[in-house]
Amino acid sequence: MANETFDLVVIGAGPGGYVAAIRAAQLGMKVAMVEKRATFGGTCLNVGCIPSKALLQSSHLFEEAGHDLAEHGIVLAPPKLNFGQLMKRKGEVVDATTKGVAFLFRKNKITSFQGTGRIDKAGAVSVLGDDGAVKDALATKNILIASGSEVTPLPGVTVDEKKIVSSTGALELAEVPKHLVVVGAGIIGLELGSVWRRLGAEVTVIEFLDRITPGVDDEVTRHFQRALAKQGLTFKLGSKVTKADASGQGVTLTVEPAKGGAAETVQADIVLVCIGRRPFIEGLGLEKAGVKLTERGRIAVDAHFQTSVPGIYAIGDVIDGPMLAHKASEDGVACVETIVGQKGHVNWELVPSIIYTQPEVAWVGKTEEQLKAAGVAYKIGKYPFTADPRSRANGATEGFVKVLADKVTDKVLGVHIIGAEAGTMIAEAGMAMEFSASAEDIGRVCHAHPTVNEAMKEAALAAWDKPIHL
Ligand SMILES: Cc1cc2nc3c(=O)[nH]c(=O)nc-3n(C[C@H](O)[C@H](O)[C@H](O)COP(=O)(O)OP(=O)(O)OC[C@H]3O[C@@H](n4cnc5c(N)ncnc54)[C@H](O)[C@@H]3O)c2cc1C
Repeated sequence: MANETFDLVVIGAGPGGYVAAIRAAQLGMKVAMVEKRATFGGTCLNVGCIPSKALLQSSHLFEEAGHDLAEHGIVLAPPKLNFGQLMKRKGEVVDATTKGVAFLFRKNKITSFQGTGRIDKAGAVSVLGDDGAVKDALATKNILIASGSEVTPLPGVTVDEKKIVSSTGALELAEVPKHLVVVGAGIIGLELGSVWRRLGAEVTVIEFLDRITPGVDDEVTRHFQRALAKQGLTFKLGSKVTKADASGQGVTLTVEPAKGGAAETVQADIVLVCIGRRPFIEGLGLEKAGVKLTERGRIAVDAHFQTSVPGIYAIGDVIDGPMLAHKASEDGVACVETIVGQKGHVNWELVPSIIYTQPEVAWVGKTEEQLKAAGVAYKIGKYPFTADPRSRANGATEGFVKVLADKVTDKVLGVHIIGAEAGTMIAEAGMAMEFSASAEDIGRVCHAHPTVNEAMKEAALAAWDKPIHL
């Protein structure tokens, strides 16, 4: 049993916790990590961002080889899928990435404990084994909760991770299903739906709202839905799944109109339940320690990530703000910098979001709908990739860049991109907006030619005055 005293004990080694631990060690703190999983990296590296992107990339290449190369004069025999190799590669990518975190922990002399971290009181954390017995009792000056999130359950639908799966099960299917029904048209559902559609499944997406991707700019969403429908995804919007019966061969779903009306049944081989994620706080001992929650069940923190108990901090998915890996990491860095007396800060208003489908969708800042609701006078600059020479050369002209700027000051308030490289392009917008750039500022920056980022310059010029190439 460990009887050392630490400066910081971090609970949870996801992108929030592991990055915080490394930064804290760099700043001279003696750090312990408590993680209940066998590997580091949390949801993101083990069952989230990384395996899903590995499958997205493999399935994208399969799709390209099968459909998109003939236009370039490259004629192949129809490609065959080696499903075992595709899944093996995904596993190897995850393995290398989680091992990379273990290496960084060793490099930064972070002591790790495998087990469930329970806060006994400020300054004391117990590490419990699978049997619930205390394996280690850690004394510490500070505690950082980075316990992340879990899948939100859907009433009437029990996830068995075989025929009715969560995102975790959808990354591990034993074969390509004939008909996959995705419940929930959010980012994760559409990414995983795209993977299995590209690999040969028929995919139906059932969504309660009458639109997909809530929170995304309306104009982008409409374009996005059309693009996905063209690829073969079927949408059933304004519909709610009330029951799932997995007793037969496949799964029979009962589906009702969201606004009420007659129910119908939908047959599926596999059902993916993807209606969102909720903070994970089970077993942390929050109530006993006196750590308060918000009305929405997340851990309440102040501007410096301190909870209602001095010396106990929380970051990432378990607190407010977008549930994204890079946001969790920035929270972690700012939190530990503040603990050592520096001025850590994260601007949650400028956390970029990306949907890694094809086309990709990426945005940062406000949508048109948010600006309208806030009564802000704004102007729009739009530039289609059809007008961008590099996009034409690449054969990827779907989509556009949309810059929203303040009508009076020209300050950029939001950037929304749908296009092949939207996820990479959005970094430029985030950087510019962090420095309070105007549309004119972005439009006057010399962009290399020919690059797809010239579309960003042109959209910014369009918002400020006039684009050159349109
Ligand atoms: C399929 C999928 C795809 C995603 N893709 C992306 C993406 O492309 N980009 C992106 O930004 N985000 C993505 N996300 C979201 C991203 O994974 C999360 O936002 C991110 O992991 C949150 O980081 P975190 O550190 O707060 O928590 P987590 O990554 O959830 O890590 C929390 C860790 O804490 C551990 N833990 C919890 N309680 C205890 C305890 N009491 N004791 C010990 N350990 C504990 C858990 O085992 C876990 O390892 C995706 C999520 C999913 C499910």
